[in-house]
Amino acid sequence: MKGRLTAKIALFSGMDNFLTYIIPENLRGQIEKGSMVSVPLRNILRDGIVVDICPEEKTEYKLKPLSHLVQPQKVLTPDLIDLAFWMRDYYCASLQSIFETMIPAIVRSGKAEMLAKEILLKKNLTEEEFTKLEKKAPQQAKVYSTMLSYGDEGVLKSALIKESGATDAAVAALIKKEILTEKERVIMRTAYEDKLSEAERVSSQAHILNAEQEAAFKKITEELDAKKFAAHLLYGVTGSGKTEVYMHAMKRVVETGGSCIYLVPEISLTPQTVGRLRSRLGNLGTELVVWHSGLSEGQRLDAWRSLASGKARIVVGARSCVFAPIENPSLIIVDEEHDGAYKQDKSPRYNGRDIAVYRAKLANSLCILGSATPSLETLYNVQKKKYSCSKILSRTDNAALPKILIVNMNYEKSGAILSNLLVNKLLEKMDKGEQSMLFLNRRGYSKVFECSDCGEVIQCPHCAMTMTLHKAQNVIRCHICGFEQRTPDRCPSCSSLNVKWYSFGTQKLEEIVQKILPSARIGRMDADTMRHKDDYRRTLAHFKGGNLDILIGTQMIAKGLDFPRVTLVGVVNADISLHMPDFRAAERTYQLIVQVAGRAGRGETKGDVVIQTRNPEAAPIQYAKNADMEAFLEEELANRIEYNYPPSSKLIRHIFKSRSLQKLEYYTEQWAKLAEAKLGKFCQIKGPAPAPIEKIEDFYRYQIWYFCTNIKNVSKTINAMRKT
Ligand code: ADP
Ligand code: ZN
Ligand code: ZN
Repeated sequence: MKGRLTAKIALFSGMDNFLTYIIPENLRGQIEKGSMVSVPLRNILRDGIVVDICPEEKTEYKLKPLSHLVQPQKVLTPDLIDLAFWMRDYYCASLQSIFETMIPAIVRSGKAEMLAKEILLKKNLTEEEFTKLEKKAPQQAKVYSTMLSYGDEGVLKSALIKESGATDAAVAALIKKEILTEKERVIMRTAYEDKLSEAERVSSQAHILNAEQEAAFKKITEELDAKKFAAHLLYGVTGSGKTEVYMHAMKRVVETGGSCIYLVPEISLTPQTVGRLRSRLGNLGTELVVWHSGLSEGQRLDAWRSLASGKARIVVGARSCVFAPIENPSLIIVDEEHDGAYKQDKSPRYNGRDIAVYRAKLANSLCILGSATPSLETLYNVQKKKYSCSKILSRTDNAALPKILIVNMNYEKSGAILSNLLVNKLLEKMDKGEQSMLFLNRRGYSKVFECSDCGEVIQCPHCAMTMTLHKAQNVIRCHICGFEQRTPDRCPSCSSLNVKWYSFGTQKLEEIVQKILPSARIGRMDADTMRHKDDYRRTLAHFKGGNLDILIGTQMIAKGLDFPRVTLVGVVNADISLHMPDFRAAERTYQLIVQVAGRAGRGETKGDVVIQTRNPEAAPIQYAKNADMEAFLEEELANRIEYNYPPSSKLIRHIFKSRSLQKLEYYTEQWAKLAEAKLGKFCQIKGPAPAPIEKIEDFYRYQIWYFCTNIKNVSKTINAMRKT
């Protein structure tokens, strides 16, 4: 027999370096790269992941054996382990936080099964005994008689208590008297039990692909068959049949033994899509798992195991689904790839779309990115021939794209929220019994300056970024470089005193619309009114059923929804997004307009789209009006390159936190100097500056931006600096 084997282990908690343990003889063969094991460390057992296995080397230390295997199935596939290391370097995150992101808590907890207490009847009572029990302990008698109806079958303790109306103590007493026994039962749920299935049981027939779809599918098939990494942009206007193409590709993959991951921005908003997928792919001899935040722990564990065991080979879900425990997925689809919901806003701050592409690379497989308004990053990669691309430019129902009307709000009555045109259109649609949607791009949380006379907004002279008001200090500030100046009381462009700070919410809009149209039935959807997942569904069902005339909301209502009776879409203030303190503002505005326009007039009736703006000449608005993607891209890309913004560089935002503002200011200054000296060659450093949200939970926050040409170098150096 050869020498012993050792395992390199990354613990879930604590350090970033690995520990080496001997693999005991009896576990040899069961432990592999990706297994979750328990190891003794200073006499405490701790859990971690095996990241490598190698023969024992001579060391001066005496190696300890690892303790045991925690999950029978390996919890990370080799491609996920490689991905974890890549993410650590790329996103400057700890391995620990990455494992936490990749592996569901219920799996990490080590619970192999979901166990529940089951109660069985052990002894039958005589009539006499029962009467006695009834007198002495009526609660126990209730439990006993409930139990009788189950005969030889057991019943879950929780169900028994509920049904009999008795207490926990009554059950315990009967167990003690050995009239009942209890044992643990493994509960397996189907991963289908996910609410979405019952919400939409649609039947859906495969369509014969039209010429454009067919061409896209042919290209995709070739890329699938090559079994090499490829990324493919499927650029198709809304309603052009992209989903149909995905389903053809998925079917092909599953039939040839492969597996697929299908990402959507927000799963609770896509019950229609899930229904369609189930009806089309449900009979291919594999399960389809739906992965979303609403799953219970038990459901999540079951879903996870179906995937890890290979029983299920299709998974549909939001962002975190990109980490599904599938070994080398053959196809990863990212629908609406431009969507901001793919970004996680806590560490590791990853973008699900980027991870999808990189995972496909590691697995030598295909990643399809689909959108009607692709992100500049993706288009840039297409331009550079890194990604392939196919286009679907006509809608499947051949409906004409709606007409986009731009209203210049500078010519409306001062202070007006709704233009005459939009009010008249709303009235007209109501008279005809048709529906309207009004969008407010975002709950205006940051206040931006706007001149009511000339439409001027104030930008940072260094960053081409809108300045944001900070009332307490009476300054306006740039969130990129920290540049600030006193709040002006007149417009710097035309000297008008008629200036205001803009921050406007959906609730206010609802009040205004209701005043103008007293008889309108109005629904509102935003983060305030939609506390629960069910709220979305209820309001949407209400609207779809024709019980509402007007739906008001943030961009969440623009996503992937299909309302045939909507013939008017209004964007109340396109400028809020245009002046958001974010270099992606123009891109977002463009995307928003095209996406919302896609909601108007599906089917027979032609739709109207009204865009209200104070900057009718702004590039994204003009280009969106003419649906001229390519021209918009060209101009926007040139802008980005000029300011060294992505995709021509990569940005890292580094957040510093402290309870003491003084210490934080001092420390970040020092850090910036040090970083400048070490990193000046590879990146441009901006800041430190207070973060947009300056204080969270008593911690002050500062940020530094790194504009990098080589992100790997920079993040490695930052990581190294952090450790010293
Ligand atoms: P997208 O994902 O691009 O918004 P979908 O795939 O949802 O578009 O298609 C829009 C509608 O057109 C759906 O109702 C779908 O069933 C239908 N459809 C898709 N492809 C075809 C086709 N080749 N022929 C007829 N109808 C189609
Ligand atoms: Zn600036
Ligand atoms: Zn002005």
